[in-house]
Formats: sequence, C-alpha cells, structure tokens
Amino acid sequence: MSDYTINTKCVQGGYTPGNGEPRQIPIIQSTTFKYATSEDMGKLFDLEADGYFYTRLANPTNDYVAAKICELEGGAAAMLTSSGQAANFFALFNICECGSHIVASSSIYGGTFNLISVTMAKMGVTVTFVDPDCSEEELNAAFQENTRAVFGETIANPALTVLDIEKFANAAHAHGVPLIVDNTFPTPVNCNPIKWGADIVTHSTTKYMDGHGAAVGGAIVDSGNFDWMAHADKFPGLTTPDDSYHGVVYAEKFGKAGFITKCTAQLMRDFGCTQSPQHAFILNLGLESLHVRMPRHCENGLAVAEFLQAQPEVVKVNYPHLEGNKYYDAAMKYMPKGGCGVISFELKGGRAAAEAFMKALKLAAIETHVADARTCCLNPATSTHRQMTEEQLEAAGIPAGMVRLSCGLEDKADLIADLKQALEAIKA
Ligand SMILES: *Cc1c(COP(=O)(O)O)cnc(C)c1O
Repeated sequence: MSDYTINTKCVQGGYTPGNGEPRQIPIIQSTTFKYATSEDMGKLFDLEADGYFYTRLANPTNDYVAAKICELEGGAAAMLTSSGQAANFFALFNICECGSHIVASSSIYGGTFNLISVTMAKMGVTVTFVDPDCSEEELNAAFQENTRAVFGETIANPALTVLDIEKFANAAHAHGVPLIVDNTFPTPVNCNPIKWGADIVTHSTTKYMDGHGAAVGGAIVDSGNFDWMAHADKFPGLTTPDDSYHGVVYAEKFGKAGFITKCTAQLMRDFGCTQSPQHAFILNLGLESLHVRMPRHCENGLAVAEFLQAQPEVVKVNYPHLEGNKYYDAAMKYMPKGGCGVISFELKGGRAAAEAFMKALKLAAIETHVADARTCCLNPATSTHRQMTEEQLEAAGIPAGMVRLSCGLEDKADLIADLKQALEAIKA
C-alpha cells in the first residue's frame, strides 16, 4: 500500500483478501494452530519458518492490524501488545537489561514515568530524566557509557509539551543508541516520528486509534533504520546468539525485522502481554476512520482552546497549536495539520472552582481517560494527583485549579455552549 496516502492506508492497509476471502479482517479466535507433522511445527519453534502456533506469541488478526499500523507509521515491522504500558515496557526492555541506563524526557505519561523510574529500577535499569526543552549540551550530558535508549512522547500526556524529535534523535544517534517515541496523542495521521529520526515508535492504541473507549491495547513499530550490528557491543541481545532459539542472531537473521522478531520471540513468549484478536478487530474498526476523526478532534480542541483563552475565569490554557503557546513553533513543524484534541487549562479559584465547574458540565463527563469520541474531563488535583498538597501541585506544574479536557467528536458549538454554561454556574 506504500503508494497510497495515509487516508487510504487507514481504511485498507495491512490486509488484502484473496479471491473469495472475507472482506473484513477475520477474527482468528483460536489459541492454537494445527500442523501435520512435528517437523513442521519444529521449524516454527526454531524460527526457521513463518507461521502461527500459539496466540500468546502471534495471531493472524493481530498481525493484520499491526501491519496496518506499521504502514501508517512508515515502519519496517510492528507488533500489537495488550496495552500501551506493555508496548513501552517491551520497547525498552527489548534492548535494556540489568545495568542499562535510559535517557528519558521528564514530560511523559505518569504510567510510563512509574514504569521507568520505579519498576524498571527494580530490574536494575537506571534512568536520567531530562527537561524536553533542555539545551543540546544538557541533553548530551545525560548520556552514560551504559545508556541503551532515549525515550520521549511526541505530545506529552498530560503536560502537552512537544518533543523536539530531531534534537533527541541526533543526541541518541551521536551516542549510538535508538530514540523511542510514544506517538499516542498525535497518531500517525498527524505525525510520523520516524520521518524525523525516531527509530522505534510506540502507541497506547487505547486512545485515538481505538478512539471509542472500547479496547485497551498497544503497538510497537520499528523503523528498521537503527544499525544494531554497528553498535553490536551495546545490544548483545540482538547481535549475539540467543540460546533459547538455538543460537539465532536476530539482527543478522531477520535484518529490519530483527527488533520486532526478538520482542515477539522472547518478551511475548515470556511475559505474555498479548492483545486478544477480538480487541485487535475492534482496534481496526477505529483505525478505519482515524484519518476522518483526528481532524475533527483537532478542530474541536483548537476552537475550545481559543474560547477558553478569552474567558476571564481562565488563568491559562495549554494547547500546543494555540498561537502564543510555548510549543507553537514545534507543533507547526512536527504537526502542521494539528496535534490532538486534549487541552488543559487553569481556573481562577483553584480546586473548588475546578470541582464545581466539572460538576456543572453536561456533555463532558468526568473520566480517567482521554482521546475518545466523547468529551471527557479530569481535575488532576482531586483525582490522579490527589495525594499532593497545594504546594506540591504547584511545584509539579499542576495547579489545583487545572482541568484536563479531552475534546471528542461532538459539535464544537455544543461543546463551547456547555463550557459557557458551566463557567456561568461557577460565577454565581
Ligand atoms: C494512556 C497512555 C499510555 C498507557 O497506555 P495504556 O493503554 O493505558 O496501557 C502510554 N502512553 C501515553 C502517552 C498514554 O496516553
């Protein structure tokens, strides 16, 4: 499908049925696959032949959908995972081990922050967090001799900072390691990090890709561009024989598919964070309209951000594509068509005002979620960051009166009218 635009790839990528085969991606609802001889099956276990034998490792439905996401991102190979958390863990742990070090943007999703700074620390993987806006000197200074990966988010959830992908890619490559970018918020419709130098792209498909709040899932796409063999000493898992597969050397035997093949053959085999084929089918329904939905999410996000900016009850609006935003130039460079529908803003009157405002909203529901068809909102101070004091919240850049609003696909006039009446309600 490489000659087609991303719009067409969203609809028809990844799966081309043969004569008389199902038009829609079939759900292969089977844990296992039948073979005539043990010799046939043995070849699969030795990674000598392509094929399926157990859904924990691979399933055709998942592979069709992964192939579509691979085309959308312009990658060489891809796989689905059970969640975005699993995608980021696998992407990192596929090249890190006890004693490795990661350089990561400090402006990332809270779940990923925990994963890297707490859980992976218990595995002996250390991290240096850097401000995404740091200078090249500061960024380069974060690297160590044992650094194995650089990590950031295109648009960070929930800080809404924009990653300077080229700056991070250049620093990563100068130190002989890949850049991993979580591209969940803009989706490939609005940004292809690989075009800007990212080596591996991850997704929480739970967000816009599914887009309907229906199925938790994740994806990993490898560009195939990083030369593992050129940095063989840093990545022995890819460049030396794997004893658990009769001495296969992934980067040699599978070339551009080496990273994903190792990730499937080792991490999926051992951790089993598999996406169910049912979920992959639901995800694909979302992908079919992703190119139609994203522009509407962005249109609504910008209209709502502009409206809020003009209200006296609002102290500050964070939306990268809003003129005057600190990240406006970066947003226009990396995402000229728009970013996402998520904005955050701070109300005068702090926590109490935010609570009263959200209670008064009729269309926007209070939810621990973002990026689906229905508009939803959250006050970090009374939910995700509830344990923090007012002072700690200020220090973390999350004022008590901050509301995160994920603009859905409703009519922007209705969304703005809803916000207007809620602002009136808290004035009274
Ligand atoms: C939600 C999210 C994740 C985690 O994904 P899950 O599917 O919830 O596991 C990771 N990264 C970003 C940017 C997210 O928004």
